[in-house]
Amino acid sequence: MDHETFFREELDGLRREGRYRVFADLERQAGRFPRATYHGEGGPREITVWCSNDYLGMGQHPAVLAAMHEAIERCGAGAGGTRNIGGTNHYHVLLEQELADLHGKEAALLFNSGYMSNWASLGTLASRIPGCVVLTDALNHASMIEGIRHSRAERHIFAHNDPDDLRRKLAALDPARPKLIAFESVYSMDGDIAPIADFCDIAEEFGAMTYIDEVHAVGLYGPRGGGVSERDGLASRLTVIEGTLAKAFGVMGGYITGSAALCDYVRSFASGFIFSTSLPPPVAAGALAAIRHLKQSQEERERHQERVATLRRRLDAAGLPHLANPSHIVPVMVGDPVLCKAVSDELLERFDIYVQPINYPTVPRGTERLRITPSPLHSDADIDHLVSGLSAIWGRVGLQRAA
Ligand SMILES: *Cc1c(COP(=O)(O)O)cnc(C)c1O
Repeated sequence: MDHETFFREELDGLRREGRYRVFADLERQAGRFPRATYHGEGGPREITVWCSNDYLGMGQHPAVLAAMHEAIERCGAGAGGTRNIGGTNHYHVLLEQELADLHGKEAALLFNSGYMSNWASLGTLASRIPGCVVLTDALNHASMIEGIRHSRAERHIFAHNDPDDLRRKLAALDPARPKLIAFESVYSMDGDIAPIADFCDIAEEFGAMTYIDEVHAVGLYGPRGGGVSERDGLASRLTVIEGTLAKAFGVMGGYITGSAALCDYVRSFASGFIFSTSLPPPVAAGALAAIRHLKQSQEERERHQERVATLRRRLDAAGLPHLANPSHIVPVMVGDPVLCKAVSDELLERFDIYVQPINYPTVPRGTERLRITPSPLHSDADIDHLVSGLSAIWGRVGLQRAA
């Protein structure tokens, strides 16, 4: 077999379907979020980013940058090893204490990414608890799906955010078997939020463990940024709360929080934790500073929600169709992969606005969209410019307006 030809043909297939991924070559500008330099064909130019998961701009916050500078001066660049062999830095220990406190849990365990925390924790729990059955929401993130698959545990997919379907599936199982229910709080593509209290009720009814991914909620919801589970007073009812340090906290890394025994168990058995070099100390220090800041400051969260509401009102006024949801994610629906990319390209070329098109398999075919994420740092002028740009393109390419 000619493998080079095989690769090229497969890639051509993606291009024909309009879902070949092109990365925008960006240079972020410290302290100037949401501005960035775009390195395009016509040379570098300044653009405004409207699709970042650095939801609050904490990746550029002075307190975070100062903590990282200080840590690099004190400890240098890398961690120097896995957690077990020389790579546990004091910043990791402090960060785990801070995360446990954030979620009101006994303990926390750090991973090198949110992806790894889901993959390794779900994989370890589901494979090592004898007879474990996993109940997993139909729209769970790839990292959860892969972790569950890797565990080879029996798995049942329940309808998205549907407590009745979850209850039906649990009721059909042997009551004696250990069960683990895995779901997210805020779903990143539609921005809808799970009925967490209902899931907790059902879990208690059937004696199941719960595992929630709060990646798109930590830092953003709850009086201290502990996520939707904190906001709704449900953290103590969840067995595991998982999160990332890479989205609202602006840096990198992932974690789980839970009981001391559960975190110690994953620490002791998860290959993806044990055999990987720990986060660089400056990264841990930056995340620590971001969490501490957002624990005591409401300003960013309040302004964030206000910006989201303002953008939605402006889109409505212009008749630009977006998916209604109770979160900070604003999906502007296009419904066609080629058009979606064309709208995104034109925003960048004519309006210096960057919003990445979201296509299959990230979302179902026919629901291609622009996933817009307003931040506290987007100004009224930025919103005006985005809405007028979108509106001009919408008319030109003949997309339908909302009623
Ligand atoms: C981004 C994401 C992750 C992975 O987190 P990273 O820190 O980026 O690896 C996990 N779960 C969900 C729902 C995500 O959107």
